[in-house]
Amino acid sequence: MAWALGLGILAAVLSARGALSGLEWRAYDHQLAARAPGVPPRDIIVVMIDDSCLDRLGPWPWPMSRHADLVRRIAGAEPRAIVFDILFFGGTARDLAGRDGSAPLGRAATAPGPTPATSRPVAETPEFADALRDAGNVFLAMCFLQGEHPVELGPYGLRMAELRQPPPELGSAAAGAGAVNVFPERDGVVRSAPLVMDHGGEPIPSLALEVIRRIEPAPDVRIGTTGRRCSVRLGDTSIPLTRAGEMLISYAGGYKVFPWVAYDEVLAGQVSPERFRNRIVLVGFTATGLSDTRPTPLAPACPGVEINAHVMRTILESDFIRPLGAAGNALLALGIALALGLALPRLRPFGALIGAGAVAVLIVVVSVYLFQRAGLWINVVTPALTALAVGLVVAADGYRVSDREKIRTESSLGTLALATRMIAASTSRQPVLDAVREEITQLVGARQTDVYLMDLDGEELVLADGGRDARVRVGGGTLGRVGQEGVPLLTTDATADAALAREVAQAADFAVGPVAFIPLRRQDQVVGVVQVVRRPGEEAFGERDLELLNALSQEAAVALENVELYEKLEGKVEIANRELVKAYSQLALEKDRVEALLENMADAVIMTDTDDRVLYVNPAAERMFRVSGREVEGDPLAEHFDVGGLPAVAESAHDADGELVTGQVVIEEPKRLVLTANAALISDDQGRPVGVVTVLSDVTLLQEMSDMKTEFVSLVSHELRTPLTSVQGFAQTLRSDVEGHFDAATRSEFLEIIESECHRLLTMINELLDASRIEAGRELPMNWGQVSITAIADKLVKLHSASAEAHTFEVDFPADLPTIEADGDRIEQVLTNIISNAIKYSPDGGVVRISGRREDGEVLISVADHGLGMTEAQRGQLFQRYHRLESDASKRIRGTGLGLYLTKGLVEAHRGRIWAESEGPGKGSVFSFALPIQRPGENDAAGGA
Ligand code: ADP
Repeated sequence: MAWALGLGILAAVLSARGALSGLEWRAYDHQLAARAPGVPPRDIIVVMIDDSCLDRLGPWPWPMSRHADLVRRIAGAEPRAIVFDILFFGGTARDLAGRDGSAPLGRAATAPGPTPATSRPVAETPEFADALRDAGNVFLAMCFLQGEHPVELGPYGLRMAELRQPPPELGSAAAGAGAVNVFPERDGVVRSAPLVMDHGGEPIPSLALEVIRRIEPAPDVRIGTTGRRCSVRLGDTSIPLTRAGEMLISYAGGYKVFPWVAYDEVLAGQVSPERFRNRIVLVGFTATGLSDTRPTPLAPACPGVEINAHVMRTILESDFIRPLGAAGNALLALGIALALGLALPRLRPFGALIGAGAVAVLIVVVSVYLFQRAGLWINVVTPALTALAVGLVVAADGYRVSDREKIRTESSLGTLALATRMIAASTSRQPVLDAVREEITQLVGARQTDVYLMDLDGEELVLADGGRDARVRVGGGTLGRVGQEGVPLLTTDATADAALAREVAQAADFAVGPVAFIPLRRQDQVVGVVQVVRRPGEEAFGERDLELLNALSQEAAVALENVELYEKLEGKVEIANRELVKAYSQLALEKDRVEALLENMADAVIMTDTDDRVLYVNPAAERMFRVSGREVEGDPLAEHFDVGGLPAVAESAHDADGELVTGQVVIEEPKRLVLTANAALISDDQGRPVGVVTVLSDVTLLQEMSDMKTEFVSLVSHELRTPLTSVQGFAQTLRSDVEGHFDAATRSEFLEIIESECHRLLTMINELLDASRIEAGRELPMNWGQVSITAIADKLVKLHSASAEAHTFEVDFPADLPTIEADGDRIEQVLTNIISNAIKYSPDGGVVRISGRREDGEVLISVADHGLGMTEAQRGQLFQRYHRLESDASKRIRGTGLGLYLTKGLVEAHRGRIWAESEGPGKGSVFSFALPIQRPGENDAAGGA
């Protein structure tokens, strides 16, 4: 951008100073040549004096009377003006001579060449003056003598050294006089004609301007200056000027484009006067080869009279070429440079060149268009060249940038390659050093690379090569200085310096040429130096190598630091690793334990997440709820466990703030189960809840026991109250008989009843005591002796036969049934219990058969009835404490459920067995017990029922 601005300013200055005016004029010539030829004008006619005129009328100068004759002939046709583009000098030969007396005056003005005016002074002719006066519209030319600087600018245009007027007689007779000077450019070509000239500060109009001023009287005719600029206005027409007083000419068509007639033909009356009517008749030299011929952009040589005619026509038709002006052109060049400077960098490098070329072409096209269509002439060379120059500069800059980017890409690729290798090898020092040496050598095309590392004290640089011991003091020698200052150093030839050669040879013991020393830096600290060498005669390390080496060294320093860190960490990691393994195995063990516990525990465990979805179910829970853990995991708890209010218990744990929530869950199907559910919210280390664990314990048995106990207490209370009420009743009756109404027999009967009820109470209380003894696992007090079961059975049958009317008893004992060693009272208690049950639970009466036999070392007693009987399931529960069978029939029969429990306890106290059989409800029962004949030894393990 700065470049473009500079170029723009330069172009603007060059344009303003006209430095490229030669080229610009050439461009102007080409534009002019491309213009369509103009239509020959109809209001101007040229009367020419050419070679053939001179042949016919004799050499110049001609007598004034001939000119008078011409004027008279033309004036008769009433033209608008008769203009002599011929000088009629009033001075002497000396006056007409050049200042040095050598150059003929006419060469610069309009004097004919072959017979210079210097040779024969022109005589004044009163006849010619008369003719001029008579015509009244004849204009004469006057002449400026050129000074040493012919084109000097004055306030009114070109300042000329000296002015020659026509002789006074002619001058006063003429309608007007004006300068006819036609001045060429430096290259000799005429591209502009002066309209106003400066003589002693006075504006002198050209012949053409003077004629037009007079024949086209305009209300406002002004020739003026603004600063150094001259301007000409004719009424509404403002004549555009290139420089002060000069108008650009657009002479098209070349020699003899104007209608013309020959001077002598006019004299001979051969030209119709109609041709002059109402026209400007311009008389002058047109002969080729005469001095008054000038090259124009379009014609190699053109007579001055034609140029003057062209100027007149241009003014009359307002057909001007307007120059843009110096300031406009300078601004244009600057603007284009700036615009391209902004736009082109986006396209570089190729696009910039193409873009600039396109803009240059566009400038040419636009300028040609404006020139052809609007007659506006803008400088084309300067802006086009500026565009190309900006394009070149931007493209060159683009190449420079892309080249730099290429280097940068290469260096980053190299760095990447090295980094990759080093990362792969970054756990130990040697592979990293090897990678650094090999990659750097390869990437910069070196012979060998060596790495020196700073020792711990920072005093020496030590060659990091296992095999060799090379050391350089920090600050000493070239390598030492690089290590101290941390600035890379490139040498073109190590052999040139003996000390350096020795130093380099410590690591590279072969012929060495260019060497590069690159510091290895870690943050602000130098931690080593890399020495890279090439062979003698190989290319020296350049800027590009340096960039690459710096990048690679940086990478290497990082890798070495990583190795150091790794080595430090390795020890710590190993310790941590070991601890981790230990912790892990402990954890695994713990997990196994917990798992085993959960798998084997009798309680059901269900874990749910915070959304009450099942996470885990242990085998006990699977069994209890008849589900498969794998199938229910992930499902909502209520989907599979919606029994007995379990989901409600688990859910309420969410709001219990970690407290245990307890509830009872009852499952009815397939078997009634009473469960105690304990649910608790589980949280992680941070106290975030992770789910709920619910443990369900089977308390069915406990529940049943508790129910039975409650029932037992009420039964026993009832059983105790009945005899007590009876005792109390008889006792009160006896006491209240103060007058002696009851006789002795009645009293005795009452007392017997009281005694028997007390006995019943005592028996019952003894039974309770025994039951509690058995329950507590204490031994029953036994009174061992020889007992005859046959005798006991006979006694009991006799006893019951008296009271039981509906029942008949059969006793079947073999005569040789041996006595057994036992407690007689206890055995009687056992048999009493079984027989009275047989009676109680066969309410419709029937035979009660008591039998006994010996079997091996035992005596086996059975009591069979034809009573209520029982189911298979009921049979299993008979001997439980407080247990009474659940049937309507037996419910109506009084009892406490203690008898069979106690009986079993007594049989077992004799190391005997007891069991029951039944073919089903209503089919009677058989209760049997077996007792050893001999009292077993204290330590004998006799089987129980
Ligand atoms: P109780 O007779 O006081 O209820 P037991 O312990 O003597 O208590 O008997 C327990 C239960 O066994 C009885 O309630 C009864 O239902 C049942 N049972 C006992 N003996 C018989 C039997 N011979 N026939 C049918 N049921 C019996």
